[in-house]
Amino acid sequence: MRKGIGVSPGVAVGPAYCIHEIFVRPQTRPLEPGEVAGELRRFEKAVKKSLAALRALAQKVASQVGQEQAAVFRAHQAILRDPAFTAKMRQGIEATRQPAEAALHDVLAEYTAIFDRTQDEYLKERLADVRDVILRLSEYLSPMLSADPPAGEGLILVAQELLPSQVVALGEKHLAGIVTQSGGATSHAAILARSRGIPAVSGVRDILRHVTNDDTVVVDGSSGHVVVNPDPETESAYRKLQREYFQLQDVLAENRDVPARLADGEEIELLANINGLADAQAATAVGAAGVGLFRTEYLFLTHPNLPDEEEQLAAYREILAASPRRRITIRTLDLGGDKTIPYLGREREANPFMGWRSIRLSFEHPEFFLTQVRAILQAGAAENAEVRMLFPMITTLEEMRRVRSMVDRARKRLRAEGKAVGRVPLGLMVEVPAAAICIDALLTVVDFISIGSNDLVQYLMAADRDNPKVGHLCQPLSPAVLRVLRRVIESCRKAGKPVTLCGEMAGLPRAFALLMGMGLRSVSMSPALLPGIKELAAQLTAEQARKMFRRAMKLKTTGQVMKYLREELDQLAPNLKLLDSA
Ligand code: PEP
Ligand code: MG
Repeated sequence: MRKGIGVSPGVAVGPAYCIHEIFVRPQTRPLEPGEVAGELRRFEKAVKKSLAALRALAQKVASQVGQEQAAVFRAHQAILRDPAFTAKMRQGIEATRQPAEAALHDVLAEYTAIFDRTQDEYLKERLADVRDVILRLSEYLSPMLSADPPAGEGLILVAQELLPSQVVALGEKHLAGIVTQSGGATSHAAILARSRGIPAVSGVRDILRHVTNDDTVVVDGSSGHVVVNPDPETESAYRKLQREYFQLQDVLAENRDVPARLADGEEIELLANINGLADAQAATAVGAAGVGLFRTEYLFLTHPNLPDEEEQLAAYREILAASPRRRITIRTLDLGGDKTIPYLGREREANPFMGWRSIRLSFEHPEFFLTQVRAILQAGAAENAEVRMLFPMITTLEEMRRVRSMVDRARKRLRAEGKAVGRVPLGLMVEVPAAAICIDALLTVVDFISIGSNDLVQYLMAADRDNPKVGHLCQPLSPAVLRVLRRVIESCRKAGKPVTLCGEMAGLPRAFALLMGMGLRSVSMSPALLPGIKELAAQLTAEQARKMFRRAMKLKTTGQVMKYLREELDQLAPNLKLLDSA
């Protein structure tokens, strides 16, 4: 048995599917002499396809972002056309008789060795371009090199790490569980697993050394345990837990049309976090009151190149129509940190989470940012819809003022163009400590607040949300975090401005109870967690929650707070124990 961090609750048992690395050298036999010519043609075809895709991408980025950003893709085309690169590949296929994928792997290894020897940071960065190009080429050669498990029911994916775009792509596969070596409870891959209701454990050191494909693996996303090839008794015990978890989900699904209330009848608002259309439908299916956070990054991360205004507008309209009660809060692009797209923010930074991310990046690409703002404003004109616009990572008052004036100008221009524009209230995410501390000033320039506790916790505790080594510090129930949250919620109440919390803690039973105790009445979470939280709310009175919060505030350590709340909730709602994670 191995221990990691439970990042998405539930239990799964199934055969392992391991992704060791994107660039694993494929197991291949040497080519027969008669196969060489065909293999060369296959390689050339893949190069042509990659070049065509890169040309289209460069054009689109040039017109929508800028010439400078498009240069990246011209450089990628140049690498593909580079005679030295082509010669090496030909040599690999013709002389060494290797299939193209294997030759590609060896060429990459050779380049990596060369780049490793140089001290020049600029040159080192160029290796990333080579990797990008080789990855693109390899995807055209054979999809097997990307993280693409075979179709099959109930696989447990075991990987070093999952990139957010990979998890999106994996969305169509029927995965039963996910285990990763790196990543923390609020890393974006974990959030995606949670939104799909897939049990997941991250931060399991060296797990790939101990698992091979088709080994039986148990994933307990609640306790963070992973068991490889369990003995029959252990396996059957976990399968029983898995059945119980499914049964609990079925029972909870029945509360979809019941209004969300605390036990004493006070109404609360349970909203859903979504990444795209499928999540919007899931949010409606579980009876969410609306979408509290639409992370639009995934629209960009999954688009083959760059969605323009019309494409974005169409996507927002479609998602709005599928969302519960046609209520949706759309967050503008929040790239950087662990989410990057090649045409924006791709420069390597020593501290990406503290660097050029999110709204900071949007300010430097005003055309790009305004395209999205325009699409959201127009989506807001839909009938019977309530669309709000949310800005991530706002740190200072100046930033929010700047955002407001950009949106106002966009609004005027759209009207001048004769286009319909919705009312669309503007809000900011409180996820930087500076914004939490100066919340009173910020409240004067926004219509609503959404607390992004995932980032707020990592910045308050100076503990990377993606790094399991500091997972013990990146804790939403730490006394420091509770004090900051209480202050923000209290300020919003005094100012009469609506406030929601949309970080992952909203879906954790213990944290939810405390948030209610602080007086918060609106939270947004992965749709898969919403039925459980609705059930917990129905068993918790406002007074009980307040009492718990008062007691918790007297405790000095995170461990004490967690233990105390565990005991309280075990008594209050013993039927919901399985829902707890991290
Ligand atoms: C947050 O930071 O809490 C949040 C909701 O945004 P994200 O997880 O996308 O950074
Ligand atoms: Mg955030």
